[in-house]
Amino acid sequence: MSISDWFKARESRRYTALDGDALARAEVPDGVWTKCSACKKIVYDGQLVENVRVCPHCGHHFAMCAAERVDLLADPGTFAEFDSRVSSADPLGFTGAKPYVESLDAAREQCAMPEAVVCGRAEIASHPVVLGVMDFRFIGASMGSAVGEKITRAFETAIAERRAVVLVTSSGGARMQEGMLSLMQMAKTAAAARRLAEERLPYVSVLANPTMGGVTASFAVLADVIFAEPGALVGFAGPRVIEQTIKQHLPKGFQSAEYLLDHGMVDDVVPRGQLTARVGLVLDYLAGGERR
Ligand SMILES: [Zn+2]
Repeated sequence: MSISDWFKARESRRYTALDGDALARAEVPDGVWTKCSACKKIVYDGQLVENVRVCPHCGHHFAMCAAERVDLLADPGTFAEFDSRVSSADPLGFTGAKPYVESLDAAREQCAMPEAVVCGRAEIASHPVVLGVMDFRFIGASMGSAVGEKITRAFETAIAERRAVVLVTSSGGARMQEGMLSLMQMAKTAAAARRLAEERLPYVSVLANPTMGGVTASFAVLADVIFAEPGALVGFAGPRVIEQTIKQHLPKGFQSAEYLLDHGMVDDVVPRGQLTARVGLVLDYLAGGERR
């Protein structure tokens, strides 16, 4: 080995240049920094919270929990939850990978909430609304009988009190652990949305990543104005299932919020930082007379 080769070998031992993939695999300690799953860059958690959980480097929208959503959308101090104790039982005594009751208990403990949706009275841009927010951490925010009941009551409360409805959805679809009882929630919530429309009260839905299955196929897309967050996956069956069924490749970006906008399925794709103002503007138009 020549002396220059020896120096080169020593340098390579001292410094390891990480390529993109290796960087992506690098472990990042939880709690202070978060690695963006889209651009793989490291973001300081404080900055992420300030930036409404949107990556400052690439604009990727991270998931938000229900409490953060409520803080984002409701006028400060106006949110008052109702039906907070409505939660699913285990009507079928279902056991899959693990018993359903265990999944429920684990989700309740992890999320510190009894069900996958939080509903309450609030004001948005000074308009009285019923605000409902789904939290994907809770068994994929799947729609069991309690979620369906809470969404239905949200519409009914809005009708009784002449309020607009604003719902933020993110869900894997029906809660298969509740079988047919879960599927029936599609008809129930859709009928409630219809009654709200008959009362000529506004309904705005915000489709967050991901909104799939029975939630997409019922109340989520029955709103007067449908917004979606950038990059949100919105559909009924997942892309892999569709590809396997029709045995064809799907177009690029299929089921993304932007694709749905191009094809007339949503009214606009709204970056999270502008969401509160946009929902407020829609309420100004649709509920102008009901401002407080
Ligand atoms: Zn990023």
